[in-house]
Amino acid sequence: MSDNIKIPADLLPLDGRFGAGPSKVRKEQVDALSSVWQSYLGTSHRQKTVKSQVGRLRSGLSDLFALPEGYEVILGNGGSTAFWDAAAFGLIRDRAQFLSFGEFGAKFASGVKDAPFLGEPTIRKSDAGDAPSFEAEAGVDAYCSPHNETSTGVAVTPKRVTGADPDSLMIIDATSAAGGLMVDAKEFDTYYFAPQKSFGSDGGIWFALMSPAAIARVAEIKATNRWIAPFLDLQTAVDNSRLDQTYNTPALATILMMAEQVDWFNSNGGLKWSAGRSSESSGVLYDWAEANPLATPFVTDPAKRSGVVATIDIDDSIDATLICKALRANGIVDTDPYRKLGRNQLRIAVFPSVDPDDVRALTRCIDYVIGQLS
Ligand SMILES: *Cc1c(COP(=O)(O)O)cnc(C)c1O
Repeated sequence: MSDNIKIPADLLPLDGRFGAGPSKVRKEQVDALSSVWQSYLGTSHRQKTVKSQVGRLRSGLSDLFALPEGYEVILGNGGSTAFWDAAAFGLIRDRAQFLSFGEFGAKFASGVKDAPFLGEPTIRKSDAGDAPSFEAEAGVDAYCSPHNETSTGVAVTPKRVTGADPDSLMIIDATSAAGGLMVDAKEFDTYYFAPQKSFGSDGGIWFALMSPAAIARVAEIKATNRWIAPFLDLQTAVDNSRLDQTYNTPALATILMMAEQVDWFNSNGGLKWSAGRSSESSGVLYDWAEANPLATPFVTDPAKRSGVVATIDIDDSIDATLICKALRANGIVDTDPYRKLGRNQLRIAVFPSVDPDDVRALTRCIDYVIGQLS
């Protein structure tokens, strides 16, 4: 039985959390929460104590992404999945073009396709492990793509579409990319994410970095007679965010732990530093896989390999689920592939919280387990 394999203690990483979300939360984030528990947790989100943490987080994100003049940090409850519905109600005017190359991109596209008040979207697809690209199309008012497709470990570079209608918006799902991959804010109008990936906090809330054009679009649609579900109304989110509040009650622990993480990134050198850590870690994994006859990076084009979520195919002679089981029995968790992808694979998330040395230790543990299994 693979869960009887005992990995020697000196090979083990200090922290065994390699999941794609919820992902590793650092002890310092929990300590920060615990040090203010009595003055912060269990207090009103309409008072200064909580609003000042929301303000700290909003300005920290603005610094981290070097947001140009006029861009704003908007937030609301419900996580990235809720933002898809909010965007369908309040950000897409009529026709969107989607890049669909995995589970998450496909879900947003299909939600918009079903919206009765929107035109038929164009969906550009590619097989898992690859990514399509946008093509300028008259009448398209929103171009939507994941920055990083968490289900397959494919990343693309957000870039405005040459020849697109001048008032079209670039809307990027950065749920697993934000904080762990470099991005140029001038290339997007909306860059949205949730805290349970690179920000090492808990889920249930969304953040959207919005350009003046995106904020204007929200107001434009709000002024039409389209019915918008109140909870998903982006104008309400904009109005509340400007006051460092949310429409309804947020989870307070999440906000403080995320603010702590954003300050950690900024105090160490910002996005270059945090993305650099992920890039170092994913580089360790891809180099290891390329050198190992029983492992191969799933994404064949090195330029499309994600810096935050590495997907590694395992040779058919070894059952990857047994590797995951053995690792789990030794405290190394969540290395399983995305369930619907159905490959003999390991998926290892290396968000900035993960120590690159722990990733080196992980490769030695996988080698040990493979040795025991074969
Ligand atoms: C995790 C993830 C989501 C879903 O986020 P929730 O906050 O759970 O709704 C959406 N898109 C991408 C790319 C993700 O990685």
